[in-house]
Amino acid sequence: MAVSKTHPASAIREAIEAGVALFGENRVQEFQQKSAELADAKIAVRLIGQLQSNKSAKAAEIFSGVDSLDSIRLAQRLDEAAKRLGRTLPVLLEIKLSREESKTGLEPESLELVRLLERLPEFANLRLGGLMTVPPWSEDPECARPYFVQLRHLRDQLAARWTGLDFSELSMGMSGDFAVAIEEGSTCIRVGTALFGKRPYPAKPEEP
Ligand SMILES: *Cc1c(COP(=O)(O)O)cnc(C)c1O
Repeated sequence: MAVSKTHPASAIREAIEAGVALFGENRVQEFQQKSAELADAKIAVRLIGQLQSNKSAKAAEIFSGVDSLDSIRLAQRLDEAAKRLGRTLPVLLEIKLSREESKTGLEPESLELVRLLERLPEFANLRLGGLMTVPPWSEDPECARPYFVQLRHLRDQLAARWTGLDFSELSMGMSGDFAVAIEEGSTCIRVGTALFGKRPYPAKPEEP
């Protein structure tokens, strides 16, 4: 996945010409603007940033899928929105494996995760594909390895318990650590800087 956040639609066009077909964006509003210029492009664009539930209807409309699903409330909103649109929305559960305050996602031992998995069959317009995580930032890619291993183990545990659900995707690995992520079983690396260069401005989270 080419992570095109902060880069203009023209950069996405260039990447398409180079053969990229899957993109990641972190803000609804930002991609809404770019998507107007990309209406004819045959690409999949997935949301990888935190989503506020008041923007879930728009997200369900403009994204090919949401890889940052992190609460029951959001699942409910996305399901309702997808239903109104008459579509099935692919989702990944974002898992928070570190204790960093700044990180979002469902904690692996949390009741919220169990309850969300229990209720997923009710959300008929969402289709679970697997898990996603962002480990703490570090210069050293080896520091990310234990988190990637942990995500894979969690996936194996969940897949054994929730046999009716699909956990085949492991979205993990970014510019600095994708090689390690692939070694640990990543099925989707999310690469921004290594493809597009340094971001022109910091990628801020969504405004409320
Ligand atoms: C920005 C971002 C990436 C890409 O990071 P790079 O280090 O630029 O490759 C990957 N995943 C998520 C969730 C991001 O927000």
